[in-house]
Amino acid sequence: MTDQASNGGYGPRTQAVHHGTRRSQYGEMAEAIFLTQGFVYDSAEQAEKRFQGTGPDEFIYARYGNPTTRMFEDRIAALEGTEDAFATASGMAAVNGALFSMCRTGDHVVAAKALFGSCLYVLDLLVRYGVEVSYVDGTDLDQWQAAIRPGTKAVFFESVSNPGLEIVDIKAVADIAHAAGALVVVDNVFATPVFSKAVEQGADVVVYSATKHIDGGGRALAGVICGTRQFVREVAEPYLKHTGGAISPFHSWIMLNGLTTMDLRVRAQADSALAIAKALQGHPALSRVIYPGLADHSQHDLAMRQMGSGGTMIAIEVKGGKEAAFAALDRLNIVKISNNLGDAKSIVTHPATTTHQRLSDEIKAELGITPGLLRVSIGLEDTADLIADLNGALGA
Ligand SMILES: *Cc1c(COP(=O)(O)O)cnc(C)c1O
Repeated sequence: MTDQASNGGYGPRTQAVHHGTRRSQYGEMAEAIFLTQGFVYDSAEQAEKRFQGTGPDEFIYARYGNPTTRMFEDRIAALEGTEDAFATASGMAAVNGALFSMCRTGDHVVAAKALFGSCLYVLDLLVRYGVEVSYVDGTDLDQWQAAIRPGTKAVFFESVSNPGLEIVDIKAVADIAHAAGALVVVDNVFATPVFSKAVEQGADVVVYSATKHIDGGGRALAGVICGTRQFVREVAEPYLKHTGGAISPFHSWIMLNGLTTMDLRVRAQADSALAIAKALQGHPALSRVIYPGLADHSQHDLAMRQMGSGGTMIAIEVKGGKEAAFAALDRLNIVKISNNLGDAKSIVTHPATTTHQRLSDEIKAELGITPGLLRVSIGLEDTADLIADLNGALGA
């Protein structure tokens, strides 16, 4: 029994609570965790038939699919506006799965330079297997135009870059890519599924680290690939089910519950982020406050058009470099020093010495990762408490 709460054109909060729920013969209210590796067949004939192909409510092995996981996949696909989705063990399994399943030796991929370190590693692996990868400044449409050529297999970028919060114009890049026959693969973590209109704007495949806003509590790793049924089930799924990137049913259940409250959480976090960015603007200890929701962000109009929000992340640059930045971090009480994001707990990261430590000084400078830069993920605490904590740390 499946709850299709999107078929009547229901809104996203209704879908987030009900869509995709599968109930067993017991009619349980809450989504059940099917913590099972496999499934029992009524007969040898049924087993044979199942191995010839499974329907949406037929399963054979948890590496291939599981009822709890299918509930999570159906729900996120409905929210993202795609035909289908495949859940994975982590965000990186989703990025790896999307790119490796679609590429062959000799293919050409164009990627934005400003990417999460592990995404850059996956692109290096593609090169090892004979895929050509060209890098561009994601905000420069002329560079995309020059790099994409007839036969380019795919373009890949973060719609909002980490940690510089630069926005890539999904629609403009998709128009260039589609004219050349390339697929548009978007890592949409910073935009969040709440503010995402990526598919509407031309993305063919959207990948998420569900570890971030979808969980929202920093409890478990997970990822998801959203796309057409053909791409998800015929391209991504065979690769993932045979190479072992399967999500645990328990983690699917955590993510399913995360989706239920995600809209409320992320909107509250983004409202708080805007208020905090405004409060920090012009702070004497800061040389820059970067937040796409502020009118002075160089891509503010694009951010509003593309997401309708500045999101939950702020970047600030402390005057006085690493020493001053570290001193500020060590004075924080509420905001935790860590490297996750999208959590209910506010988190601050010093990218130059942690998440982006391995990049050369030259590349750090190019990506705006200066010694004083801090990345702040705004959580669900009282906005006034966060402003007081940050002001206290910065020496207001
Ligand atoms: C965290 C993150 C990933 C990787 O996700 P994991 O769940 O940690 O594997 C990929 N891309 C972006 C933009 C991220 O922030």
